[in-house]
Amino acid sequence: MTLTTHATLGAVIGRATGNPALAFIFGFISHLLIDMIPHGDTGTSDNFRIYKRRRKQAIAYVMVDAAVAIFFVLLLANTKDINSMRTFSWGIVGGVLPDFLVGVYEITKSPLLRWAYRLHFFFHDFFVKRRGDVPLFYAIMAQVVLIAYLQTKL
Ligand SMILES: [Zn+2]
Repeated sequence: MTLTTHATLGAVIGRATGNPALAFIFGFISHLLIDMIPHGDTGTSDNFRIYKRRRKQAIAYVMVDAAVAIFFVLLLANTKDINSMRTFSWGIVGGVLPDFLVGVYEITKSPLLRWAYRLHFFFHDFFVKRRGDVPLFYAIMAQVVLIAYLQTKL
């Protein structure tokens, strides 16, 4: 999923828990679970990780994804009456952390992070490797609708 989806879902789950530590934990779990839904990025991800081709395209995709997520989180923080900024923030941190750890692992190949990488792709690839992926464009459109709904819950 896009980082904006993970961040918004993490924030909403964080609010539901009402507690920063639980917001972080459930935000993290929410990332793994929602990533199981096929969401169009397997081609980009496999090109980068497995086939080592079109890697600049994958990096550009992630950079745009991250910048959009930052803008959207700032938009939420500046337009909503967030009742606990701490819970909001820890929900987002938990929601985004799995992808951050994947990125750090890609850069460092640190054995300390191999578990996080494997855990992430166990969930991410669970259905797409059995049943195939959906087109990225439709997956992003569906996420826009989901985010529009989720932000009403903040
Ligand atoms: Zn992910």
